[in-house]
Amino acid sequence: MVSNIELAEGPGNLEQQRGDSPMMAAVERKCRFCGDTLSVSVADLGMSPVSNNNIKPEKLTAMEPFYPLHAYVCEACWLVQLGQFQAADEIFNDEYAYFSSYSKSWLEHARHYSLKVIERFCFDRNSQVVEIASNDGYLLKNFKEKGIKILGVEPCANVANAAEEIGIPSLIKFFGVKTAEEMVADGIRADLLVGNNVLAHVPDLNDFVKGMKILLSPQGVITMEFPHLKKLIEFNQFDTIYHEHFSYFSLLTVERVFAGFGLVIFDVEEIPTHGGSLRIYVCHDSDTSKPVLEAVKNLREQEIEDGFGNTSVYARFAEQVKETKRKLLSFLIEVKRQGKTVVGYGAPAKGNTLLNYCGIGHDFIDYTVDLSPHKQGLCLPGTHLPIFPPERINETKPDYVLILPWNLKDEIMNQMAHIREWGGQFVVPIPELKVYK
Ligand SMILES: [Zn+2]
Repeated sequence: MVSNIELAEGPGNLEQQRGDSPMMAAVERKCRFCGDTLSVSVADLGMSPVSNNNIKPEKLTAMEPFYPLHAYVCEACWLVQLGQFQAADEIFNDEYAYFSSYSKSWLEHARHYSLKVIERFCFDRNSQVVEIASNDGYLLKNFKEKGIKILGVEPCANVANAAEEIGIPSLIKFFGVKTAEEMVADGIRADLLVGNNVLAHVPDLNDFVKGMKILLSPQGVITMEFPHLKKLIEFNQFDTIYHEHFSYFSLLTVERVFAGFGLVIFDVEEIPTHGGSLRIYVCHDSDTSKPVLEAVKNLREQEIEDGFGNTSVYARFAEQVKETKRKLLSFLIEVKRQGKTVVGYGAPAKGNTLLNYCGIGHDFIDYTVDLSPHKQGLCLPGTHLPIFPPERINETKPDYVLILPWNLKDEIMNQMAHIREWGGQFVVPIPELKVYK
């Protein structure tokens, strides 16, 4: 554990985690995978707006929906997941504007991955690559350059259209059993089925994994990347909990989920993206050409040793989250009392979780900035902080720049190194508040 927070252990603390109000107890919560009743709280982040719904200035006086943002763990399968809340439609609407191509380090990551799997599994012009949640085509274009057949599946029309514009064919659909069956009926089977940062975003997990089983060719490979629960807990990344993100996986749990649909994880890599992710390699359980590698066994054993099959790890995390809020607020109150100015950098989903949970708005932060022109000119949900282009920082010369996408902190501190010319400092809130002079 990175945190040095003293945590109250023992049954009293655990009881508190279970203790919902009588009203909440009336709401039935079932595990998305196994159907068991959810009763152990992992992080209660209160009521929060939908993170990626940045607001147009003319809508700032309208009513804004807030939903409960509360993660639980299932004691039967250890799947960490959000409790029920209304509205998948609200989340993936047409204004959803996350274009992957605006992060340089992410593009580089995608290129490395593509070259690596092409070589490892000998994909060629006869191979079919399908990517689920293919976004603006930033990943598939690497396969296209090698002459490999590609197809994207992307539910958000605006980003799918951007992919089409650069020659990446994209089905505008949610992926699941129905879409997989339609694709197979059209003669498509995936030799490589890629899903990066989508597994956690799927409301109906079982339908999604079953769909992958259907679409995968007999000797095909699925690779998926998702944030690793172990890192979320060790590095206090509670801000990666947001409404679009229904599930949070350990290897222990994801193995169970895939096994439930006749799929085997035969290799796993720990990769640094999004603060620490897993990349899993999956095949049919009938495919004997791919033995399960040591890496899978080693990580599984490590997770068991670290207690991820045990309630107390999750209950301790719940307390750590509250302490992080107290520390960030203490810092901001102190610097504001000194008359300093603070602005944000970035408008990622995780930033909205942090700001809304901590109650940080105009009283502490003047504005935020983002490289994406699709976000500039809008306001953050809940806090209504305006989003400007990064040049705004050069004009107002703030004392502190709070980096919200902390996973990109090195890239951002490089890009914005010149704030030091006027004595500006960077603040990174996660895993622990740290000021960089
Ligand atoms: Zn379960």
